[in-house]
Amino acid sequence: MTHEPASYNLALVALSFAVAALASLTALDLAARVRGSKGAPGIAWLVGGAFAMGTGIWAMHFIGMLAMEMPEHVGYGIVLTALSLLAALLSSALALFIVQSGKLTNYRLAFGSLVMGTGICLMHYVGMAAMSTAGSITYEPVLFLVSVVISVSASGLSLWLAFRLTPSDTGPRAPFWQRGLAAVVMAIGISGMHYTGMAAAVIPHGGMMPMAGGISPDQLAIVIALIATCIMLAAMMISIYDAHLSSRNAQLAGSLQRANSELKDMVYGDSLTQLPNRLLLEERLDTLLQQTDNAFAVLFVDLDRFKNVNDSLGHHVGDELIKHAATRLQAAIRETDTVARVGGDEFMVLASSNNGHEGFSALARRIVSTLDQPFQIGDSIVKVSSSVGISLYPDHGLEKHALMVHADAAMYCAKERGRNNFQLYEPNMSSLAERRTLIEQRLRLAIDNNGLTLAYQPKVNVLSGEITGVEALLRWNDDELGVVTPDEIIPIAEDTGLILPLGEWVLRTACQYSADGAGHDGATMAVAVNISAIQLNNRHFTTLVKKVLHETGLPAGLLELELTESALIQNPDRALTILNELRELGITLSIDDFGTGYSNLAQLRRFPIQRLKIDRTFMSGVTTNAQDAAIVQAVIALALSLDLQVVAEGIETEEQLSFIRRQQGHQYQGYLCSKALPADDLKAFLADRQLVTG
Ligand code: C2E
Ligand code: CA
Ligand code: CA
Repeated sequence: MTHEPASYNLALVALSFAVAALASLTALDLAARVRGSKGAPGIAWLVGGAFAMGTGIWAMHFIGMLAMEMPEHVGYGIVLTALSLLAALLSSALALFIVQSGKLTNYRLAFGSLVMGTGICLMHYVGMAAMSTAGSITYEPVLFLVSVVISVSASGLSLWLAFRLTPSDTGPRAPFWQRGLAAVVMAIGISGMHYTGMAAAVIPHGGMMPMAGGISPDQLAIVIALIATCIMLAAMMISIYDAHLSSRNAQLAGSLQRANSELKDMVYGDSLTQLPNRLLLEERLDTLLQQTDNAFAVLFVDLDRFKNVNDSLGHHVGDELIKHAATRLQAAIRETDTVARVGGDEFMVLASSNNGHEGFSALARRIVSTLDQPFQIGDSIVKVSSSVGISLYPDHGLEKHALMVHADAAMYCAKERGRNNFQLYEPNMSSLAERRTLIEQRLRLAIDNNGLTLAYQPKVNVLSGEITGVEALLRWNDDELGVVTPDEIIPIAEDTGLILPLGEWVLRTACQYSADGAGHDGATMAVAVNISAIQLNNRHFTTLVKKVLHETGLPAGLLELELTESALIQNPDRALTILNELRELGITLSIDDFGTGYSNLAQLRRFPIQRLKIDRTFMSGVTTNAQDAAIVQAVIALALSLDLQVVAEGIETEEQLSFIRRQQGHQYQGYLCSKALPADDLKAFLADRQLVTG
């Protein structure tokens, strides 16, 4: 028997090590993916890993054999060679399965290492047995044992590095250096085992010999080259897959970023108008305050009676109107200015000017006039106006809150002063705005707690002096605010939507009063109720009127509704429908305050109205001012030609009454007869009058 150190081809030894290392790297990489995937993909990663590892071990072994200087005609038995490959494959599969199929405990790691290590040895010694030798090979026990220990312990260290050292079971794969080290350790284990095993081998005398039907070293080299190519291919596929994955990750990250910025737009932007919202505007205001000492303006823009549009034409039209208004506002400001939507129908503008106060006023005027133009929305023409309040930096405030609150107060003042205008902030306006807020709060309470009353003003027949009915007028004496007039209450109620419950209360109370017998002897008396445009355009208005008539038992013929022209003109088609419904019930309809609004009698002809109330502002002039007299004269003549009854408001003197009588007006109201009286006083008044005239 020979037992002398074999001599090796060092290049091939290096190659054997390289193949083992590459195979290990590929195998550990593939196996590492098992954990993150379930089902078929997990199995595929495991099979791939086992294949790379098994064939790698096997190829290493035979390259190592080729590296050894051997007689030319050595051969390998096919069956045992195949068995050695099978041993490598199966043990690799089993070992990887053990360490990767559950939580990697110490026990699992030890067991996996044992399977891997013995698998490597098994492969080696079966491979050795495949070699054709003169007699059977024997092994030196100590070196044999050392080879097993190397194989098992290197496997353990490698598996520990690759799988156990990672932060968490589901966490990221081990970093490359760690996986590389694990592969090198595994390669050391495989080759260390091989070369120690070779050193342990005692080849029988006669050495190796050729073998009929066996595999020659040349054929073996081809098979090994094939296997090495396969492993390389697998490694390449992995890196391509990884590159694909990371580009997909990049894509994902990109779309995530886009989603985030869209989210930011949503937080900072108004989805209806695409304008900035209050949050963003306040941010810009902050920045502006930090960056500049130049004057700039904060404008508060509020659409007048926008609720009305929403209630009468629906939210869809309301939304469209807001969008159109936003577009006009954007066109009215300069590019460097900001317009934001800060509430339902409220906008705010941040503007600079190189023209001082003049420039800001010009901007506000532009805004008011552009929003005063009718809007074409779908088939309908919608008219709104706006009220604008301006506060200036630094005159009206040095910080954000003051500037915004003052612009708001100025806007309310603009509403107070008749809407469709702008106001520059003045110190007393803050108290006005506060009063407005207080009125809103107190009014809410008053409606709920019966804090309101109605006064009734007689309507008088011009010729007979007979009282033909009364007009109900709102009265409010609040504990905190004192007396608040309807001229102050109604606009606030209209802006806040309180007009609906308030109007309902007025209607019900007036009808009840009339039904209960307003006359001095309990005789029923016609009652007239003022109806706001918002009430009339509310889709439930007719239903409400019917319900109230039914509940109070008042015959419809005793109810008169006073409407303004503007309430009809806003949406004439709808108004016509509603008026026809009310007429069918038998209710009397009259136009209030005639002469102050559009005063378009030709247009009013389409509506089923019976009465025209000439506004009281004309009356003071009829006896002194020729123009006023001419207007009233013309209006009465026209009304008569249209078969409308004429009611003159605000008659305070006998002269005024005579004038109306000459023009053949039918009725009048005014202090000449009586101011509006509380319900009980009216009864007494009527009784007295009965005595006088009767
Ligand atoms: P209006 O409908 O034109 O009511 C007539 C107003 O003129 C009443 O003022 C009345 O007190 C006042 N007045 C009556 N006779 C004379 C007179 O001879 N000379 C003068 N200078 N004034 C006279 P009031 O009660 O302050 O109401 C003001 C306006 O508030 C009303 O004008 C009406 O448009 C509105 N209003 C009052 N009550 C209600 C209500 O319940 N609902 C609605 N929607 N509006 C109401
Ligand atoms: Ca009236
Ligand atoms: Ca009136």
